[in-house]
Amino acid sequence: MQYPLPIAKLIESYMKLPGIGEKTATRLAFFTLDMDQETVEKFSTSLLDVKSKLRICSICGNITETDPCFICRDASRDQTKILVVEQAKDIMAFEDMGEYNGLYHVLHGVLSPLDGIGVEDLNIKSLITRLQVSEVNEVILALNSTPEGESTAMYISRLIKPAGIKVSRLASGLAVGSDIEYADSLTLKRAVSGRTEL
Ligand SMILES: [Zn+2]
Repeated sequence: MQYPLPIAKLIESYMKLPGIGEKTATRLAFFTLDMDQETVEKFSTSLLDVKSKLRICSICGNITETDPCFICRDASRDQTKILVVEQAKDIMAFEDMGEYNGLYHVLHGVLSPLDGIGVEDLNIKSLITRLQVSEVNEVILALNSTPEGESTAMYISRLIKPAGIKVSRLASGLAVGSDIEYADSLTLKRAVSGRTEL
């Protein structure tokens, strides 16, 4: 059976989302059809806004409406520490924890030669530049405990250490391969306070 074109197109769009197959996409498309006009308009505006109103912070790589982002602009934060994360959404996990008051740096991924992701594809060069002109004395690597996360941590550690900057990593406690974004605040707190020097 052929769906009318607008429905078929919406199904196709939903299928672009991660974990959404044709069945779920079809259910969502028909659900959207039943939603009231105002809700659908708000929904489509939010979709467009995340692309048009957000940019990458030129200092730390965070996703932000203003450049620099609110964290980089905040002079009351501890300017001597940078916590390095894979994704901008990981920052929210550490901010929710409420105990870390330093700065961040977002790599936008990890080294993964098999997927063709090398040093140039990540936000690593800007981290090094940043360290040269700042008062940072500790870099905390908060990458996921995947093989890619581990090798990226080792790579960055080797780059930074000769400059005399302390490099530490989160204490284990996060399950191997688990995502930082899914870790609860207490686990993250323990991981940060029990961090070990590399
Ligand atoms: Zn920033």
